[in-house]
Amino acid sequence: MLEALALAALPVLIGGALAPVAASAQEAQALPARDADLTLTGTITGMDHQSYQRAPFTMPEGVDRLVVAFDYDGREEKTVIDLGLEDVNGFRGASGGNKPHFTIARSDATPSYLAGPIDAGEWALSLVVPNIRQGVTAEWTARIWFLQGAEAQMPPSPTAGRGLGWYRGDLHMHTGHSDGSCDSEAGRRVPCPLFRTVEAAKARNLDFIAITEHNTTSHAGALYEVQQYFDHTLLIPGREITTFFGHFNIFGITSPIDFRITKGGVIGFDTIADRVHELGGIVSINHPGLPSGELCMGCGWTMDNADYAKADAVELVNGSSLASADRNPEGIVSAIPFWTKLQSEGFALTPLGGSDNHDPDAHDLGAVGAPVTFIEAQDLTPQALFDGIRKGRSFIAIDPSARPLHLDFSAAGGGKSARMGGDLQLARALVRLMPDVQAPAGSVVEFHDGGTPIAELPIADAPSGVDVSLDAGTHHVHLRIRSGSGDLLAIGNAIRIDVARDE
Ligand SMILES: [Zn+2]
Ligand SMILES: [Zn+2]
Repeated sequence: MLEALALAALPVLIGGALAPVAASAQEAQALPARDADLTLTGTITGMDHQSYQRAPFTMPEGVDRLVVAFDYDGREEKTVIDLGLEDVNGFRGASGGNKPHFTIARSDATPSYLAGPIDAGEWALSLVVPNIRQGVTAEWTARIWFLQGAEAQMPPSPTAGRGLGWYRGDLHMHTGHSDGSCDSEAGRRVPCPLFRTVEAAKARNLDFIAITEHNTTSHAGALYEVQQYFDHTLLIPGREITTFFGHFNIFGITSPIDFRITKGGVIGFDTIADRVHELGGIVSINHPGLPSGELCMGCGWTMDNADYAKADAVELVNGSSLASADRNPEGIVSAIPFWTKLQSEGFALTPLGGSDNHDPDAHDLGAVGAPVTFIEAQDLTPQALFDGIRKGRSFIAIDPSARPLHLDFSAAGGGKSARMGGDLQLARALVRLMPDVQAPAGSVVEFHDGGTPIAELPIADAPSGVDVSLDAGTHHVHLRIRSGSGDLLAIGNAIRIDVARDE
């Protein structure tokens, strides 16, 4: 009987560029920007009233994410087609009539569907027809995308469309999906649900956060579900690759990554970084200023043979580390010496900040959004923020309550100029440094060449800039803003300045 019904609605397989059904603006953001890989269509009639249909399709090898958009006509005549999905093993979820599109990956799925492996073979849409009137005919269309690799990493974000700006965020935090915890309603210590961290981020007006669980991807499903509710806070899937020889964050990846680095083994920092880049993500070395030992195993950075050309960024300020040490971002666990040493070796890593929060109810340094990382990006999307990181457009506000606060600068000489994150080649030693800063009254703007202060200006005089003379050779000049009482308020990325050697 079922077979006969399936015949009545035999899907027509059409590859590629069939005219898509009318897409709403919301759909345009939620679906891949390119044409579907497969379009199934079918017809139901009054004969199919109260029937179950099955529309099979072949799942190719190597698919990392499935996206389905489903539509049908005849709603004005009370035709209803409910949707579900079968994979090679059977039931994979059912969304009834409430979701016009859904996605499934190993790590996450639209609520109603089950995340998990996408095995090649025969899959099928399950169509349920609770109602179609006698004499009525309705057409249905399912557009199907088979995504792989970089294209498959993250579902689209509802925060897109904000345009160019400096966005505020926190790129390092943990929830109950790794070792984050909080008090339950009755005061029990429990693995903290992820939405509590997102609420804390929203309360602190963050534009973006990355949830970076230790070595797992189990949070990707919760992130995807929660993202649908938070229109204004971008949730970036992250992971803290946690090894015996140091920790590093990877951003924008939901695929599994083997983290088991051993001395002399096949898996190393370089191989993981290569895979992350292949998938379109970002690699950032975490808290390299921490010591390693039995108090914090593998926390310091002792990675052998790391190619730092494969590191996009470094966590220059880690809130939780500071809170557990001397609270000083230039103090005993500072990552600044690591950063400037790599600069002197020719590696320009973009500085980022992270709270390393493990409890959304925490306040003070290490709370969600303490510190804040600012990234200049073309839009509030993961890829735009990643481009901003690649261009080096970042600064870190250590105390998020310091207002106003902005940090950027340019360097100019010999008719050329560069912005923070850029490069400048000069024939002569004289360079003009122009801060673009805002800070509380009484603050001081300092310029540093690597680890060495070379100039400073009271905040009131910042708009006039300062001329400095640099020796022949390569310099990495960055800017720090310090409060009137001497506390570091903000630190930004450098401009690399090459001064030609005297002939
Ligand atoms: Zn860590
Ligand atoms: Zn961490």
